[in-house]
Amino acid sequence: MRPKPPIWCAKCNLRIAPYDLLTAYHGANYHQDCFLRLVREEADEQKRGQPFRRPASNESGEHPSIRSPRP
Ligand SMILES: [Zn+2]
Repeated sequence: MRPKPPIWCAKCNLRIAPYDLLTAYHGANYHQDCFLRLVREEADEQKRGQPFRRPASNESGEHPSIRSPRP
């Protein structure tokens, strides 16, 4: 018998173990957790209507865990 070829996660680029939960989507394979994260990120992008990027400027004075609400 041949061993099954390894499956790689398209999100985190780690191998998906046989005992891990696997989600196949658009011809790519993901850990279930990675897929859920991917879906959430895509939903955020659609909400904003722009790619998921934050401006890198003006971060020095802010604590990472505190985010001021946007108007
Ligand atoms: Zn993964």
